[in-house]
Amino acid sequence: MADEETKQDQPDNPTPLRRPGEGVPPPPQGERPGVVSDVVALGAGLKTTLQEFFRPVVTTMYPEDKTPRSERYRGRHYLRRYDNGLERCIGCELCAAACPVGCILVVAAENTDEKRVSPGERYAKTYEINMLRCIFCGYCEDACPVQAIVLGPEYELSDTSREKFIYTKERLLEPLPPDVQARLNDKASGTGTTPPHADPPHRAGR
Ligand code: SF4
Ligand code: SF4
Repeated sequence: MADEETKQDQPDNPTPLRRPGEGVPPPPQGERPGVVSDVVALGAGLKTTLQEFFRPVVTTMYPEDKTPRSERYRGRHYLRRYDNGLERCIGCELCAAACPVGCILVVAAENTDEKRVSPGERYAKTYEINMLRCIFCGYCEDACPVQAIVLGPEYELSDTSREKFIYTKERLLEPLPPDVQARLNDKASGTGTTPPHADPPHRAGR
């Protein structure tokens, strides 16, 4: 009686991962596994390991080593200057209009004879890019009529707070050419004779 109860408690399908009626596949035909076949398999594995050992290393030890980038790589933006130190940006806001994610802010101001920042009538008083939003599409670079905004090769942009990803004009603007910087320094110390932006706008280098 006890044996009958035990039999009834046992399920029809003792293998839980198989559906009722599903057959158990037959064991593989041929030689049964043994010590010799294990050693052969081990030798095959070691052969693969040794082959990989003598192949050229493709791993790059970043950040000490860096792989070369394509010339067309689009990384962090830069605001460019002319050779005479004037800023290229004329505050037209075409880049902001072209940006598909609206991450560029341009506030323009008028150039004056006393304070000329760019060759045009206006210059960018404020220029900001929210790098957290930027998708590095390059539309801003394409839209700029004076090639003022360009995407450079720099891609290491990690930082510690969201605020630091708002790139201001000061951060984006490329440094002054050394000769213009030297003239500025001379002027500041009272020894210079040439104003920093002496070249007329129409002769500005490209
Ligand atoms: S690269 Fe594209 S997303 Fe980034 S600022 Fe320029 S237009 Fe906007
Ligand atoms: S970067 Fe170019 S497109 Fe953008 S505001 Fe300046 S001049 Fe205009």
